Amino acid sequence: GALASWEAVDAHVASAFRRNRDHAEGSVADYIPILAAADPELFGVCAVDVGGGVHTAGDTEHEFSIQSISKAFVYALVCDRFGHEVVRERVGVNNTGLAFNSVVAIELNEGHPMNPMVNAGAIATTALMPGSTADAQWVAVQDGLSRFAGRPLELNQLVYQSEAATNQRNRAIAGLLESYGRVELDPLEVVDVYTKQCALNVSAHDLAVMGATLADGGMNPVTGEQVVSPEVCRDTLAVMAANGLYERSGEWLFEIGLPGKSGVSGGIVTIAPGKAGIGVFSPRLDSAGNSVRGQRATAYLSRALGLNIFASE
Ligand code: GLU
Repeated sequence: GALASWEAVDAHVASAFRRNRDHAEGSVADYIPILAAADPELFGVCAVDVGGGVHTAGDTEHEFSIQSISKAFVYALVCDRFGHEVVRERVGVNNTGLAFNSVVAIELNEGHPMNPMVNAGAIATTALMPGSTADAQWVAVQDGLSRFAGRPLELNQLVYQSEAATNQRNRAIAGLLESYGRVELDPLEVVDVYTKQCALNVSAHDLAVMGATLADGGMNPVTGEQVVSPEVCRDTLAVMAANGLYERSGEWLFEIGLPGKSGVSGGIVTIAPGKAGIGVFSPRLDSAGNSVRGQRATAYLSRALGLNIFASE
C-alpha cells in the first residue's frame, strides 16, 4: 500500500518525537574524543516521502558527523560503478556477529572483509571509489554523498582531526587487509579517506533525504537527480537489513522490519522502500553503538505507519 496521508505522517512524526523526548537511557560515544562533547539532549525526527514531502520534529537541522551511516551510501556508489557480482565477491554481504571494528573477524575469515557495514568492509569499499589519488577519491565520496543529500555536505574538521589522531585500530584493519592482498592502494591513505567520509556533517533532515533517495530507486525526490540505479538501491537495502545496526541488526529487523544504518554519533537512517526515508538523531547510544531514542522513534513510526516490510498488509 501507499504511505499514509501527509497529515497522518506529520502527526506520527510529531508523536514519535514527543513520546521519546524524555527518554534518557544510554550514553554518548567517547572512543572518538570529540564525540563525548555532544549535547545528549539533542533529538530530531524527520521523514521525507518519495514525493519529496518533508516532516520534521525537534532538532532536525542540527549537524553532526555522519560516521558509520556513510558506509551505506559509499557502498551504493561503489556498487553503481562495479555491479552486483564484483562487489559481492570483494566486500561480501554476511554478518560477522562481532563488533564493527573487530580485527578478529578479519582473521577468522582469512582476510575477507565480510560486509560493507563493518569497518574492514567499509575501508575495502572506500578503496574502490573512483579516483587515481586519495584526494580524488575523497572528492568522489564527498560529491556522491552530497548528491544523496541534495546539498553540498561539508567536512567537520574537529571530528576529522580528533578521529585521525585516535584511529590506530582502523589503520591496523587496513594494514591487515593489505597483508591479505585485499587493498591495493596505500592503506593509510585509504583510512584517511574513510576517516574523512565518517566526518562529513549531516542533519537528521539530510539523512531522511538520503534515505528517501534509496527508497525512491536512486532518484533524489527533492532534487530530481538519479544518483544510483534501482538495482543498486535494492542491493544496498539488503545489506543494510542484514548488517546495519551492529550486533543488534537481527533485533532491529525483528522489531522494526526495515533496512537501516546507525552511526556512533547518534544518527540512524531508515528506508521504507517505495515510500519514505526516515532520519533520526540523538547522541545517547546503547551498548552496541545505536542511538536509543533514535531506535525508539523509528520503531514507533514503523508501527504507526505500517512500514514493516514483512507484514502481509
Ligand atoms: N568513524 C568511526 C570508526 O571507524 C565510525 C564508527 C561508527 O559509526 O560505527 O570507528
